[in-house]
Amino acid sequence: MIGGGEAALIQRYFHGLTAQRDGVELGVGDDAALLQTETGLLAACCDTLVEDIHFPGDIPPEALGHRVLAVNLSDLAAVGARPAWTLLSLTLPEKDPQWLERFSAGFKALADRYGVALVGGDTTQGPLSVSVTALGQVAGDHGLRRGGARPGDGVWVTGTLGDAALGLELWQEREEATALAGDPAYLAGRLFRPEPRVAAGTALLGRASAAIDVSDGLAADLSRVLDESGVGATLELEALPRSQAFIDEQGDLRHLLHGGDDYELCFTLPAEREEEMACLREHAATPVTRIGTVEETPGLRGVDAGGVVCALEPGGYDHFAEGS
Ligand SMILES: [Mg+2]
Repeated sequence: MIGGGEAALIQRYFHGLTAQRDGVELGVGDDAALLQTETGLLAACCDTLVEDIHFPGDIPPEALGHRVLAVNLSDLAAVGARPAWTLLSLTLPEKDPQWLERFSAGFKALADRYGVALVGGDTTQGPLSVSVTALGQVAGDHGLRRGGARPGDGVWVTGTLGDAALGLELWQEREEATALAGDPAYLAGRLFRPEPRVAAGTALLGRASAAIDVSDGLAADLSRVLDESGVGATLELEALPRSQAFIDEQGDLRHLLHGGDDYELCFTLPAEREEEMACLREHAATPVTRIGTVEETPGLRGVDAGGVVCALEPGGYDHFAEGS
């Protein structure tokens, strides 16, 4: 058993492992690497989805094709990059033409929407898993990163939270082979077809002081930003944005704070830039909500409608956490 979780594993075995090169603006440990090239800043990331770990075995193939690209475009969005190229590695239990048709159609539809070119990859036989590498370009010479939050900054999030976690519960609880309809179908759609916040990520360049995408849950991912920045924050629990379907299906704080897979962006913003969020709502067509304030005191806290403050555990999903 490896102690200490995924971040500790990376720190112990891979941080600084290889010879260093000039031009690595941001290396191991953020959403994507930022690499200085002669033509500008290149962002690079990769993500693997394994059956029954990251997606239920009965996920529609189109949705899997969409999702594996979307989670990578979300990491690029978290550093403010515009996606450009991708490589796809597929491990398949068998060569099923119908499955491959549907998977590739889902992948293509999302790639086409963002002008992303598939430029390579690999296929092999084995238990179903899908891995994507994505590359993008960042305007300017900095990019968004996790380490810049300062006391007094607002904590903000795009879209709504908790939908994907509640959608997964409803998907797993449904009668076998029964299609979901209404709110449960919307929520499962948020799980299977997350919409990467590409426009928001590029619009936040030069504005947000720090950013991350919400893949493991708001509390876990925001805690990464706070730790990296050496600060803390208090969240206004009543302000956490929820969809109508989430309210109708009685989602709760557990989903909002600890549910993963929403792929929204969580970012911190200096107070003097708050009015610029109107342009994000208009030009990037992205709803954004201020959910708290960055403070000097380390740790993450929540305050409820009655003014009661409580400590929040990061508690998101970690593949290598003790006991998992
Ligand atoms: Mg990420």
